[in-house]
Amino acid sequence: MNENSKQIVVVGGGPGGLETASMLARMGFDVEIIEKEDVIGGHLNQYYQLFPNFRDAGELTQELKERAAHPKIKISTGESLLDLTRNDGKFEILTSKRRKINPDAVVMATGFDPFEAERKEEFGYGVYPNVITSIELEKMFREQGKVTTVDGRIPERVGIVHCVGSRDEKVGNFYCSRICCICGVKQAIEIRKHHPETRVTNFYMDMRMSGQYFEELYRQSQERWGVYYVRGRISEAAMTVDGKIRVKAEDTLIAKPVTLSVDLLVLMVGIEASNSTKEFSKRLEIESDYGFFRSRDRHSEDQESPVDGLFLAGTAKGPASIKETLADARATAGKVWEYFQNN
Ligand code: SF4
Repeated sequence: MNENSKQIVVVGGGPGGLETASMLARMGFDVEIIEKEDVIGGHLNQYYQLFPNFRDAGELTQELKERAAHPKIKISTGESLLDLTRNDGKFEILTSKRRKINPDAVVMATGFDPFEAERKEEFGYGVYPNVITSIELEKMFREQGKVTTVDGRIPERVGIVHCVGSRDEKVGNFYCSRICCICGVKQAIEIRKHHPETRVTNFYMDMRMSGQYFEELYRQSQERWGVYYVRGRISEAAMTVDGKIRVKAEDTLIAKPVTLSVDLLVLMVGIEASNSTKEFSKRLEIESDYGFFRSRDRHSEDQESPVDGLFLAGTAKGPASIKETLADARATAGKVWEYFQNN
């Protein structure tokens, strides 16, 4: 292992932060991860299986945590960033535990928050108990190994709604969250695998299968697993007296209205900048669209921020899959190493 006297703070202990820190430690840097939650792993802790190969998410979380259990990495959980400034080439960090740290470089891996589904009132999330989010479905699979309605029944019919909080002028998010189409396909297959008697219908605007093996999985979901797809946005969801959810949409392929009663409605919530991402991108005046961080250049310097010595990793810059986040984190570590060749 190389020895290196530089100290680096990584803000955020999700997959992007953990992987950046692991790589930096292996390059010989002293690294401190500051994570606001009491545990590291971020949203990955809640996931069940990962697309497109149904790998157990817990296994990957464990692998990332083991890699981060490195003698050159200090992990500080339950501590958040209160202030971050850079004066005369030095960073000064103040944490919620009133600690002052002066690292030589900082990596912002402050991640994302899922879109708050209550903001789309027409779907009745938070009002109808059988309307849940895609994150809650992941947790359900993970914790109980099956999908149930609020009264514990296996649903006969499940509806999955795409683009909740993304590509939506009304909530101010014009962008595509990029991963929820494939996540909708994955979750539909998982439901069919666990409960072959349950019918699943996905309501989508366009199917965006841009990753490797995504298109194949989409095809498999129809041919092998019998998942139905309706091209159309749901205009309304309402609970009926028997506790089902009646959804209305327009099937835009046949230009006809569709009404469907489902036992469970799953909302594929999009990716938004986390509160820390929004707060610090604004304070440091390196805010991109929608509160994400702006990199120096989207092609050749995407891991560097416009502030010298301040680097960016993963979904702090915008929607990305786990695979993309990990690859980006490794690239970020490489850019930090390159920075210290000249500083
Ligand atoms: S990935 Fe699919 S579901 Fe997600 S915002 Fe884009 S089009 Fe909508």
